[in-house]
Amino acid sequence: QFPFGRRLPCDIYWHGVSFHDNNIFSGQVNKFPGMMETVRKITLSRAMRTMQDLFPLEYNFYPRSWILPEELPLFVAEVRMMKDSNPSWKPTFIVKPDGGCQGDGIYLIKDPSDIRLTGSIQSRPAVVQEYICKPLLMDKLKFDIRLYVLLKSLEPLEIYIAKDGLSRFCTEPYQEPTLKNLHQVFMHLTNYSLNIHSGNFIHSDSVNTGSKRTFSSILCRLSSRGADVKKLWSDIISLVIKTIIALTPELKVYYQSDIPAGKPGPTCFQILGFDILLMKNLKPMLLEVNANPSMRIEHEQELSPGVFENVPSPVDEEVKVAVIRDTLRLVDPQKKKRRDTHLSFHTYLLIFPARLQSLHAGIASMKDKQHKHHSLKLSLKLKFYLKLGSCPSWEQAAGASAEPPEPAAARSPEAALPSLCLKQVFPKYAKQFSYLRLVDRVAALFIRFLGVKGTTKLGPTGFRTFIRNCKLSNSNFSMAAVDILYIDITRRWNSMGIDHKESGMCLQAFVEAFFCLAQKKYKSLPLHEQVASLIELCECRLAAVHGKRLVWG
Ligand code: ADP
Repeated sequence: QFPFGRRLPCDIYWHGVSFHDNNIFSGQVNKFPGMMETVRKITLSRAMRTMQDLFPLEYNFYPRSWILPEELPLFVAEVRMMKDSNPSWKPTFIVKPDGGCQGDGIYLIKDPSDIRLTGSIQSRPAVVQEYICKPLLMDKLKFDIRLYVLLKSLEPLEIYIAKDGLSRFCTEPYQEPTLKNLHQVFMHLTNYSLNIHSGNFIHSDSVNTGSKRTFSSILCRLSSRGADVKKLWSDIISLVIKTIIALTPELKVYYQSDIPAGKPGPTCFQILGFDILLMKNLKPMLLEVNANPSMRIEHEQELSPGVFENVPSPVDEEVKVAVIRDTLRLVDPQKKKRRDTHLSFHTYLLIFPARLQSLHAGIASMKDKQHKHHSLKLSLKLKFYLKLGSCPSWEQAAGASAEPPEPAAARSPEAALPSLCLKQVFPKYAKQFSYLRLVDRVAALFIRFLGVKGTTKLGPTGFRTFIRNCKLSNSNFSMAAVDILYIDITRRWNSMGIDHKESGMCLQAFVEAFFCLAQKKYKSLPLHEQVASLIELCECRLAAVHGKRLVWG
């Protein structure tokens, strides 16, 4: 917080909500430009759909979804078709307003005709999604998992996952959805913000009982029942990497627009909250990604009617303090310097108390402004946890042995800290997943032809230049046809009303046009091979154009 303006540049800027700040030219910001927009329900669904079209098996961890109102006819038709081909299929669907959070406006339906069209669907678009009817239950209750993921860098891609997370429980025993119980939110929705209002909500100081527990306590229970916890972790890692791969193309477009290459600007990192539901067969399913996961480590308790007090929540504390502590350790700009000068991390925090306080004020303001005054308390806790915290679950689950202790003489100040609770998963597993990054390469072509710095949409001239430089037009596909393709797709995407600030072709529209061109050119191949072939062709032709330019000076 800088009430009198900021004079000196900072190493780390901790923003409460989003990236925006025009005066940052160096250092690191804890938010990526465009992240909020990219993880909104509709945008996420679109990105996942694109990946599902390319790689249906790899992306089957995201429930089948339709975007309302534009895909209402498609939703009705597809459900009718599936019901006709399988009369025993008795689906339930969940309708979620775009931009909503904490369960706000969510409801369940059994049939597309039950969608509440009372004007609101036009003004408030939504996602309708297949409802997962058979979740894994614990103590007869449905629960979901909140996992913290650090996107440390976009280019090159660097992803870390926290070894422990939270499990948030419903407060009424689960029953598969029927017309009678569809409206029972305490049975079907796991949101903490809803269930806290149920008389059955249990606050517990223990991490393995109550309505909010650590994920590691769930893993322990599952492991004692003989479940393959190692496979579960590996499925979760794969889900997280694949989801981020689906988000990166859009993020890169925003990034180049806010922080143009070659100009001074900060780098970015961000802690994301992944909401995951486990199915009965232990398959993890992605529900949503939160750009601003709550970092509160307290909860409200009603002492007497109408009198509330904030009390510490040990479960939140155990998980969240470690996530923030280790994010700071990973992005710590002084790390190298300190290694050279033997300055301890603890000392570093002490010499920048103002910065740490502003950081915590940011954290507190994320969800609830009135808790700002608790920031100093968290600051003290962080210092304490920097020395003491530990996250044993990952190693236990993955069966990895702890690293051997270094001899005392060789020990760095970092050795006094607990082992990192954030585990790198990318580029560690890059080899396994890189083939999925096709849309990233399409986005690179898009960005190359955007031309004007600071824009996120491609004009007609940029699109024509792309076609020309990649030599994609011929006697069967004239430049007039190119213009028609541009106008058709751009108009349709712009009529969906996502972003009216700029005119032109957005990334998703370009991706659709690109898929269309790929299908035309490589008719008999599966879609991902058609797209991969066209990308290679374009990259090759652009490299040749670039080569020629170099030769001719
Ligand atoms: P919000 O951002 O409002 O919390 P979510 O997408 O997280 O929206 O959904 C709220 C809750 O609804 C989830 O925590 C979960 O309990 C339940 N839920 C969401 N989608 C599904 C689904 N496809 N199947 C089963 N339950 C779901």
